[in-house]
Amino acid sequence: MKHSAIEKMSLRLTRLRTDKNRKRWTSQTCHQAPHKPFLLLAIMDHFAQGFITENFIEPAFDLVDTFNHYWQVIMPIGTRSTMAYPFPRLQNDGILQLIPNPEFNGKINIESITSMKKLRQVCIGARLDNELFFLFSQPGSREQLRAAIINHYFSEAIRQAVAECGIVNIKSYEYSQELLKVSEKPSLFKAADEVTQNIKIRDQGFRKAIVRLYEHRCALCGIRMMTPEGHTVVEAAHIKPWSESHDDSPTNGMSLCRLCHWSFDEGLMSVGSDYEVLVSKRVATENNYPGHIFTLSDRVIFKPEGETFWPGQKNLAWHRDKIFTK
Ligand SMILES: [Zn+2]
Repeated sequence: MKHSAIEKMSLRLTRLRTDKNRKRWTSQTCHQAPHKPFLLLAIMDHFAQGFITENFIEPAFDLVDTFNHYWQVIMPIGTRSTMAYPFPRLQNDGILQLIPNPEFNGKINIESITSMKKLRQVCIGARLDNELFFLFSQPGSREQLRAAIINHYFSEAIRQAVAECGIVNIKSYEYSQELLKVSEKPSLFKAADEVTQNIKIRDQGFRKAIVRLYEHRCALCGIRMMTPEGHTVVEAAHIKPWSESHDDSPTNGMSLCRLCHWSFDEGLMSVGSDYEVLVSKRVATENNYPGHIFTLSDRVIFKPEGETFWPGQKNLAWHRDKIFTK
């Protein structure tokens, strides 16, 4: 009985209405737009992470981030898309049912939704088809449906990469949770574990933990910018590089905007023993560096709420000593 329910659902999930313009979509994605498959895979990853426990799918940053991750890994470099395409349009396949935003008056016109801003204006989220919610909630049936989607919508050559993307999403989240544990020391990866998949899990997990702790804000200049499409200006930076420290603890990280990250790694900026921003004199004397960096001197950096996660003074001292040029 249960077996046939999975088979029936596999059939439904492999008959989604997709754009089949052969000029636009290559054989890699079986000449179809991959938006809906990517979104379903991202939703499954969130079930696996324990994010989704009741039948409500919120178009929140984390889901957008997971969707974007599939796109970045699988699709050609430089191409972009938005979750605003597949999210409402899965309603046309009977997979999702949008829940209107009470503040939005009028009838939802699905075809008019082309940005996350618009999507959030018209709906607060969506409910999954009840049967699908049930099947996604169980690891066994969820993984069977994942395999059905991957086999149907992606060429043999890239199936493994798509599957690996899901593994990295799930494991990097677990790793980020591990890094954010307060009571016990996180179990960290060792240098010997540096196979490609572990490097990806480490990178993603470290980024998730740090960016969350700093609420997407740059520790040095305080800038916080996030587009509705889930792109954020900050990156997770190691204070003492991984290659030297093998340390992903939050005390060896800061979230930094791209300019501050580059300046920090180049030794143009550092952090003092009172958590004040230090700016190299080179910034003032060499006039090709942006002058506004200098105005940050002596300002206290932005730190996470819990003191246990503040940048470690030992790590900062290492950076001042080895990287920073006064
Ligand atoms: Zn910055």
